[in-house]
Amino acid sequence: MGDKRYALVTGGSRGIGRAICVRLAAAGMDIVFNYQSGSEAAEETKKLCEEQGVKVMAVRADISKPEDCDMLIKTAADFFGGRIDVLVNNAGITRDNLLARISDEDLDAVLNVNLKGSFYMMRGVSKYMLRQKYGRIINMSSVVGVMGNAGQVNYAASKAAVIGMTKSLARELASRRITVNAVAPGMIETDMTAAIKEGAKEKIIEGIPFKEMGKPEDIANTVAFLAGDEAGYITGQVICVDGGMAI
Ligand code: NAP
Repeated sequence: MGDKRYALVTGGSRGIGRAICVRLAAAGMDIVFNYQSGSEAAEETKKLCEEQGVKVMAVRADISKPEDCDMLIKTAADFFGGRIDVLVNNAGITRDNLLARISDEDLDAVLNVNLKGSFYMMRGVSKYMLRQKYGRIINMSSVVGVMGNAGQVNYAASKAAVIGMTKSLARELASRRITVNAVAPGMIETDMTAAIKEGAKEKIIEGIPFKEMGKPEDIANTVAFLAGDEAGYITGQVICVDGGMAI
């Protein structure tokens, strides 16, 4: 990598977000990440990144709130000396159920974090990237946003919306050479998938051509590639990292 780069990652305290923070730190980037409530887990992520020899800050912020996003972005820009090179919109939640049993609250909660949170972050951070004429935005979608999934109508809607936002913003920012891409993970070993009942999990794994779940590092490696200078001619793409699930 040539110039020093600065990355802002949402939901970095656990799972895929933690792996992304550590991987980008290993690539030499200073990191600001947020968490919602898990301060101990956030401390652990911070420690793992610092072991890579970079500067790291953990910020408590609820990305479903526009004012929290504005605070997070300003805090990151100040920490980085006025720039933000990489934005990874990773934070996300599920509230799974069959359609008839999805409450208004469960619909709103999922859309507010996965869709609106990513929107607020892109809107705020893109201002810095436009000034810099440099930026990498990577949004976390899901194979569910590509294929659909019974029991996840609200989540699938939010993750398909992330793809629509990614492609639209990629077109808006292309003239400044700012890239906007989405990564669509399959079944990855994190707290999110630990919540799936054992029988149901086996059934899903049976449907994966690789017959096994992925690891957070599989996603982090793809994000690191898209966040790097070498990926500068790739924009508006959705990269499925899923052991063949979405073929
Ligand atoms: P996870 O283990 O549940 O971690 C979620 C992270 O997001 C945590 O750091 C959490 O912070 C943070 N977060 C949640 N709500 C937030 C909010 N309102 N504001 C700020 N931060 C918030 O999830 P994961 O499995 O790593 O998933 C990461 C991303 O990948 C999500 O977008 C998910 O939809 C997507 N994805 C995951 C899979 C999978 O198989 N795991 C598959 C496809 C897509 P706290 O710790 O403080 O709560």
